Amino acid sequence: MASDPNCIFCKIVAGAIPCFKLHEDADTLAFMDINPANEGHCLVIPKSHHPNLLETPPDVLGRVMASVHKVAAAVQKTLSPDGINLVQANGKGAEQSVFHFHMHIITRRVGDELKMNWGHKPGDMKAIGALAERIRGNVG
Ligand code: AMP
Ligand code: ZN
Repeated sequence: MASDPNCIFCKIVAGAIPCFKLHEDADTLAFMDINPANEGHCLVIPKSHHPNLLETPPDVLGRVMASVHKVAAAVQKTLSPDGINLVQANGKGAEQSVFHFHMHIITRRVGDELKMNWGHKPGDMKAIGALAERIRGNVG
């Protein structure tokens, strides 16, 4: 499996860095974003390292989307947001900051006025951990 020793998400996959894990299968991992744009913001990644969409094989993308579907359903069940955005950045111009393909699952509330580049503000780790446990309990 492709891996990059300098990649933070590869380190999470390897267990070298902790995460608030939501779901895992043979090919994908879902965990909470520690700088949440909104409550329940989480990420789904392939376990294999691919820097961006264009460099990720389509079959891998398919497996990531299957996991996104499962985790988004759990987020919806847990938080009942008014909506969910899937966001995915490619390249500096798109403000990609981690160069290991990932899908953002971002809850939305009517009128939250969240903008595309939301900035990285550290969340409350205790609250994120507690929420991760609730979402995890709803992953089918
Ligand atoms: P992007 O800017 O689209 O590449 O998204 C990268 C995301 O990874 C950002 O939302 C960061 O908050 C998030 N992130 C970076 N490091 C970690 C980490 N160790 N655990 C969880 N999320 C992270
Ligand atoms: Zn990686």
